[in-house]
Amino acid sequence: PEPLLRAVEVRQHFPVRRGFFKPTAYVKAVNGVSFEIAEGETFGLVGESGCGKSTLGRTLLRLVEPTDGACFYRGENIFEKSPSEFARFRRELQMVFQDPYSSLNPKMRVGDILEEAMKIHGIGTRRTRTDRVIELLETVGLSSEHYFRFPHEFSGGQRQRIGLARALSLSPKVVICDETVSALDVSIQAQVLNLMKRIRREFDLSYLFISHDLGVVKYISDRIGVMYLGNLVEVATAEELFESPKHPYTQALISALPKTNPRTKKERIKLTGEVPSPLSPPSGCCFHTRCPHATEICRTTVPASRTISDTHKVACHLYEGRA
Ligand code: SF4
Ligand code: MG
Repeated sequence: PEPLLRAVEVRQHFPVRRGFFKPTAYVKAVNGVSFEIAEGETFGLVGESGCGKSTLGRTLLRLVEPTDGACFYRGENIFEKSPSEFARFRRELQMVFQDPYSSLNPKMRVGDILEEAMKIHGIGTRRTRTDRVIELLETVGLSSEHYFRFPHEFSGGQRQRIGLARALSLSPKVVICDETVSALDVSIQAQVLNLMKRIRREFDLSYLFISHDLGVVKYISDRIGVMYLGNLVEVATAEELFESPKHPYTQALISALPKTNPRTKKERIKLTGEVPSPLSPPSGCCFHTRCPHATEICRTTVPASRTISDTHKVACHLYEGRA
């Protein structure tokens, strides 16, 4: 069956002018990413800052127009829709940002902030919308008391709850969460993550959960994709990824996590060198400049995505034989 959301070879290349006489260069922020999200599933997207994961999320919702590729929602390519056709899909695809404070109008009361999108989309009457707003406040662990308050009167965790409530106001099917808990204290993080899990069940949602924090991604995701320099280098169930990471980059990320079992002998894998610029990514495998296992073929040939199991794929020449 067709998954709820399916991204195919999505690219986001930003042009950079380097002066009048030089040809335009391109920052290859997202360089041909494919994955899918099933109904009710949380797909975690992890990678260091600057790897293109936020840009990918924004591109899927066409907050920046894609350079190339396709994104199928319920089998329809939303990249091909006209702006008016796309508006219909946009209701079902929502986004929650890292700092909702910057996206919550400081001069508006929370009740009005939560009502706004419904108003714009012509949903309900003033009366039914007010009821719905109170319901949403309660869903995210706030109450009708908060209706007339302003954003600055809330803590970071509460503002994140308001951001979630606003995303839910249009009854979406997919919510893209970009570093949603990254700015919060660890104890508050757990509360918001648990709330998000409950909301996912109650509203029958799917999440694309973007974060640089592998621990957080592990906690909430069913499947995880690892991004490096605009490429998805490995995709697996959360369990497979942590039990037997295949890509050398994933192995390094996991080895850097605090150990849950101090007796495990695995050494931390130290990566040398910097992440190359997406303006001039390396030839061949994008990771070859830092990979401890790189060989000649890695410098010349882009590794294809290899299937390890039904639920595990990796793009690395080490797994060539298993194509
Ligand atoms: Fe390392 Fe080569 Fe695999 Fe890339 S393809 S991750 S350079 S071994
Ligand atoms: Mg980001």
